[in-house]
Amino acid sequence: MNKIDHIGIAVKNLETSIPIFEKLLNTACYKTEEVASENVLTAFFKTGESKIELVASTNADGVIAKYIDKKGEGMHHIAFDVTDIQAEMNRLVAEGFTLLNDTPKKGADNKLVCFLHPKGTNGVLIELCQNIHHPDAHVL
Ligand code: ZN
Repeated sequence: MNKIDHIGIAVKNLETSIPIFEKLLNTACYKTEEVASENVLTAFFKTGESKIELVASTNADGVIAKYIDKKGEGMHHIAFDVTDIQAEMNRLVAEGFTLLNDTPKKGADNKLVCFLHPKGTNGVLIELCQNIHHPDAHVL
């Protein structure tokens, strides 16, 4: 794993939360993007090398809506940048971790992503993400 790419924060709605994080980080949100396959809207902020991703649900029974119903708004996941997501997934499965998706899927911000089951990682939801056009990446 190369570095933390971003920290994901579950929020009820972006309209309310974007201005809060713009004020907090003293920088403008640089991108909002819908990931229709996941029923989420995302908003990204850059702070130095790191990014913050706000994630809001687009429907009442999406995974983020269910998460907020159960745990409230707040820290949702930590995403690590990887060079070759398939190789990293294979390594983690060999180490005994459980993946939430068997093949990389298209996430926000031009990434291929895979999540690990938080039961195997002390309750922390981990996301692996690889830039789709990483020069050293497998062609999928
Ligand atoms: Zn994320």
